[in-house]
Amino acid sequence: MLRAFQLLSSSSGFASSPLQRRKPLLRRNNLLLFSLSTTARSSSSSSSSSRAAAPILFPSVSSRRSSLFRSFRISAIRPESSADDASSTSFSSTLQPLESSSSHMRKVSFCQWCGAATKQAIPEGDDKTRTICTVCGKVAYLNPKMVVGCLVEHDNKILLCKRKIQPAYGLWTLPSGYMEIGESAADGAARETWEEACAEVKVLSPFAQLDIPYIGNSYIFFRAKMTKPQFSPGPESLDCRLFAPDDIPFDSLAFSSMFVALNLYIEDLKAGQIKFHYCTINKRPGSDASDIRAYTLGAHLQA
Ligand SMILES: [Zn+2]
Repeated sequence: MLRAFQLLSSSSGFASSPLQRRKPLLRRNNLLLFSLSTTARSSSSSSSSSRAAAPILFPSVSSRRSSLFRSFRISAIRPESSADDASSTSFSSTLQPLESSSSHMRKVSFCQWCGAATKQAIPEGDDKTRTICTVCGKVAYLNPKMVVGCLVEHDNKILLCKRKIQPAYGLWTLPSGYMEIGESAADGAARETWEEACAEVKVLSPFAQLDIPYIGNSYIFFRAKMTKPQFSPGPESLDCRLFAPDDIPFDSLAFSSMFVALNLYIEDLKAGQIKFHYCTINKRPGSDASDIRAYTLGAHLQA
């Protein structure tokens, strides 16, 4: 989740964000209420900062949200998202953090197939320590989670949702959540937008893929537009609003991923061209999950 930096002005308007009209990818889905049990590892924190859009390469410390997270300490396999963990992992989990180099990953103590205890060992032919069942020998591979969401543009504004769930209760986010088995990333992004903002959207184009290796999440954000100008808070949201670029609440955003995505978007607006971005968000190890500016960007590619 870094230190002194100069704030960029976010005074640019929406230079040009042509919204194309395409066939809707998704009709409304069943509403799914997720019981969130995720939290984030917390540690230190520090000062806050102003609201302006910030340069994404050298974010500052902003930890006024740290108290929100402290009571939600778990292992951080998914501290950045809002979706549930109807986990696809092959082992049941005790949600105990590992205190090794992979301390941010979830410890799996029991085998999903046979229930026996697991052990940490390097499987034959592998070169990494894995969680292996002591009875049936199956390996529990831990793979990154995909988080998908929409950057909904309407009247030169962006739709944000205020979270009604932890972590990051009361903070603003792009509508997003964990991609589910059986759906595409675009479908998942539209579904999450419906669930969190009751907004039916057409996905227009990919906008960014942001990997956060430290917590094993990869985000894909799509530009989208509402099929009709209606939205309202879903069961996971306290509020939904359209924000002009200058009014985006950068000091009250829920996650680093949102901070980066919205800064990239605003920078593109200023430049007059919305691009596609790929980059990694390298969280500062040990930083407070609520400190959304405690990161550096790596491997930033754009097209
Ligand atoms: Zn087993």
